[in-house]
Amino acid sequence: MARARRPLFCGNWKLNGSIAESLALASDVRNGVSTVRDADVSVAPSFTALYAVAKRLEDGPVGVAAQDCFWDEKGAFTGEVAPSQLVDVGCKQVIVGHSERRQLFGELDAAVNLKARAALGAGLVPIICIGETLAERDAGETLGRVQAQLDAALAEMSGDELARVVIAYEPVWAIGTGRNATPAQAQEVHHFIRTRVAIRAPEVAAKLRILYGGSVKPDNVRALMAEPDVDGGLVGGASLSAESFVRIVKEGSAA
Ligand code: PEP
Repeated sequence: MARARRPLFCGNWKLNGSIAESLALASDVRNGVSTVRDADVSVAPSFTALYAVAKRLEDGPVGVAAQDCFWDEKGAFTGEVAPSQLVDVGCKQVIVGHSERRQLFGELDAAVNLKARAALGAGLVPIICIGETLAERDAGETLGRVQAQLDAALAEMSGDELARVVIAYEPVWAIGTGRNATPAQAQEVHHFIRTRVAIRAPEVAAKLRILYGGSVKPDNVRALMAEPDVDGGLVGGASLSAESFVRIVKEGSAA
């Protein structure tokens, strides 16, 4: 059965890799996915390697994403990077609201919204991460937490802007832990997200790509992708090996 949406697999390399290592990984990913026709693929290197990797991948099928951005264009914001600067170095996407930014750097929902809107304004696709902690899941607060993060992240976006957004559902307890959500758990939340967006914009919701993130591996991606509302993966640890990331893309897009 044909998929309702074209899958996207994004490899989040986090704080890893010299420029040389990032270039080698990028080349191996590009070569590995060269026969993949049924999915979009992108990689998110560290800021320091973005320009080199974007040059290496220029005109090929693999896109480049940044791992974060700021919401203002210029000024006295030491250490920050503007969306237009990311466009300048060749990025097409930017991850915003990753749980590591929320948990380790105190990023709040309002900042995620500002970042996502600034990214859209610069022509980038924001991959907006949302997801509950283990304590929230155990307390039965998963859908409430996801709803609050989703509504805050998408606040004040126009219909055109909403249509360009990608959501990544990343249960915090599954990130980097080797413990992934079951396909049924992922589907429940993905369906909830789509239904929530549909209240505001039904046509957008039908086309919205909702990625799953949290210990995605070559041996669990098929089952996740078999769920009707799972449209791809945001892959951390397993994207640091071209071999495993390419297998995830191939297995996932064939599911
Ligand atoms: C992530 O960093 O977004 C992620 C999902 O990491 P991992 O695949 O390692 O759990």
